[in-house]
Amino acid sequence: MMVNLGANTVHFSVEMLEQYELARAEVCMGREGTLSSRQKKAIDEIKLANELGIPVSVHLPIFLPPDYKRDYLDAMFLEPDEAQRELSFEMVALNLKLLESYEVEYYVLHFPGVILEKEVQELFEERLDESLERLEVLSRQYNCSILLEYFGSNVNFYRPEQWIEKLRPYRHLGLLIDTGHLYFASVIWDFDFISVLKMLSDHAEAFHLWTTKGQYAYRENEFYLKNNHVAIHPEQMKEDGWAFDSKTVLDILKDTSKPLIIEATPLYLGEKYYQNGIVKVASYLKNVK
Ligand SMILES: [Zn+2]
Repeated sequence: MMVNLGANTVHFSVEMLEQYELARAEVCMGREGTLSSRQKKAIDEIKLANELGIPVSVHLPIFLPPDYKRDYLDAMFLEPDEAQRELSFEMVALNLKLLESYEVEYYVLHFPGVILEKEVQELFEERLDESLERLEVLSRQYNCSILLEYFGSNVNFYRPEQWIEKLRPYRHLGLLIDTGHLYFASVIWDFDFISVLKMLSDHAEAFHLWTTKGQYAYRENEFYLKNNHVAIHPEQMKEDGWAFDSKTVLDILKDTSKPLIIEATPLYLGEKYYQNGIVKVASYLKNVK
């Protein structure tokens, strides 16, 4: 079986995929440069991937509504403030419309947001169901699929079983598991990372791969603040301070034909370490059978 491994294009180019024997790309606009230069780069990448026949997914958003003031990766779909929620839906509608003419295998969306206030469950679930339904309607309208990236950052919607159950009814929506964010969720909610990864990987439609160090999550994690997403190398061990034994994670994912996207930055030990991570993961997944 072909390993369906690819890279996020923020630190990697579509032209380089073949040389690294990668099968796919995930376009994301990143943070370097002006909004319009980032958008142009993203569209050029989608076009090139389409021309070369390389499967491509798009990490939303590429386009932002005129009134959008928040960080581009914020997700307001589940916020109590209706005007904020509307902006997020407007963002999705705008992107699906402007990207309609391209060949996009699936879209990746940050969905749960960062919500620290516990709400009355029924009230929250009503909003959650309504938001999922609206995304389903939008993706049906544009005949595409949207994968919601799992995060443990919303106190009302973080249990892995709850995610599976809530997404199950929707044909155009799916689950994406990101190894780094899942690790942080396991820190925040004190669950066993490996067993939850095993459980979720049966339900996920795609994966993001990166790792980190340290026992704290996000802003409390100095290593993460400094190094952001670190490229996975098979020899990274938990006993050396890494989030998980990288080999164990690769072994769980080795038989899947679902997209595995390396979503790392070259901040930790530089460009070489980042690129070597890609080479080693590709070769490990190819040879471990
Ligand atoms: Zn991710």
